[in-house]
Amino acid sequence: MTTLTMKFGGTSVGNAEAHTQAANIVLEQVPNWDHVVVVVSAMSGTTNALIKGAKTAANGDGQIYRGIVADLRVRHYRVVDALLTDANERAQLLATVDQYLDEFATFCRSVYVLGEVTPRAMDTISSLGERINARIMAAYLRQEGLKSQAIDATELIVTDDTFQKAAPLMEKTRKQVEKNLKPLLERGVTPVITGFMGATETGITTTLGRGGSDYSAAILGDALDSNEVWIWSDVDGVMSADPRIVPEARIIPVLSSSEVGELAYFGAKVLHPQTIRPVIEREIALWVKNTFNPTCPGTRIIREPENIPGTVKGITAIKGLSMVTVEGRGMIGVPGIAARTFAAVASQGASVLMISQASSEQSICLIIPTETVAAVIKALEEELTLELARRDIDRIWSLDDVVIITAVGAGMRGTPGVAARIFSALGESGINVIAIAQGSSECSISLVIDAGSAAEAIRTIHHHVILKNNVA
Ligand code: ASP
Ligand code: MG
Repeated sequence: MTTLTMKFGGTSVGNAEAHTQAANIVLEQVPNWDHVVVVVSAMSGTTNALIKGAKTAANGDGQIYRGIVADLRVRHYRVVDALLTDANERAQLLATVDQYLDEFATFCRSVYVLGEVTPRAMDTISSLGERINARIMAAYLRQEGLKSQAIDATELIVTDDTFQKAAPLMEKTRKQVEKNLKPLLERGVTPVITGFMGATETGITTTLGRGGSDYSAAILGDALDSNEVWIWSDVDGVMSADPRIVPEARIIPVLSSSEVGELAYFGAKVLHPQTIRPVIEREIALWVKNTFNPTCPGTRIIREPENIPGTVKGITAIKGLSMVTVEGRGMIGVPGIAARTFAAVASQGASVLMISQASSEQSICLIIPTETVAAVIKALEEELTLELARRDIDRIWSLDDVVIITAVGAGMRGTPGVAARIFSALGESGINVIAIAQGSSECSISLVIDAGSAAEAIRTIHHHVILKNNVA
């Protein structure tokens, strides 16, 4: 028994041409597998629009959501009109679109009257786009000759009640899938399931967090014991760098889950590592592919890193950061300063993206988001008042406009020379490195660089290190 679970993201089902492309992919795959399961996002921009409607209504604007209803109606009508040729089917589907958008308007009206939108209400409202789109896709697939049916994931994915970021309850989800999905598959139906949403045990709609349709596909892929999960978006796969900065960026053919984690954490727009964990752990083959270039194989995500010594696969950057330095000779050999420094930073709710301390212990550097710097410095000065007065700590200062650049690749593990290649590339381009950190997992090296040189640094590392993989 072979099963393929495929998820189409918002741009892959964002207008009639995209729907057609996506449907062609489904039609092509159906004969190759015993079961094909389709998960869809809302049309691109829809979720944002729904959320905006609810928020503005909560803030006392009774007009904006009406405009949003009108816009969404036009967009969805246009797709239905373009896709469906049978007048009856078309009329039915238009009525379905109306029904959900009327529901949206009613919800917004209540939110407007109440003057607030609860997370629970927001989940019901923000997932309407998926409900509509699944129905459009299923109707189109039926027209093209498949036995297809839309299913709301509220019937399948059971979650806790953390609205807006619900976590799946896998055992219960498996039972629901067994009961509500398997019989359809056995009857030869190709289900089109709403991404993004689930329901609590008592049936209240939840969402899995923004961008959650990947997670939906992973959860269903796991619950169905799928052989493969394919995530369709509008890029050829995971890229070695942001192509807007590096025109010669290319697709990374294979990435391990830890590499995806590093890339995602450091700002690349790829799969969220947590969302794909169920699939990776079960060693279900996971692919990221491009709906608009389906013959390109895309990126394959695997559990364990490949053993290609010395390779750096990708490079990403995080902007909007500052470096805070706590500095003084009196810190040498004195335990507890680092702990107190981090406690003071944590007291301000600032997340620390990178740390570096030289073994001379004369300074500790922390990289934090710039908007948290003022509060963090104040907290540090309070915490370390005594040490500052005694001159054990000379100063606490910050440097704004820095960027963390991270080179990712498990191949640097245990391979000498990777850091050297990175630094000599930067040196040749005359780029100054302010601080460095490497996790002991050796899956990435991070450098702090002045924001003004970031693009150049990314380009030079990409050119000299990534494109020249394995030549060292
Ligand atoms: N439509 C949802 C969002 O925009 C889920 C998704 O696209 O994955 O967040
Ligand atoms: Mg989306």
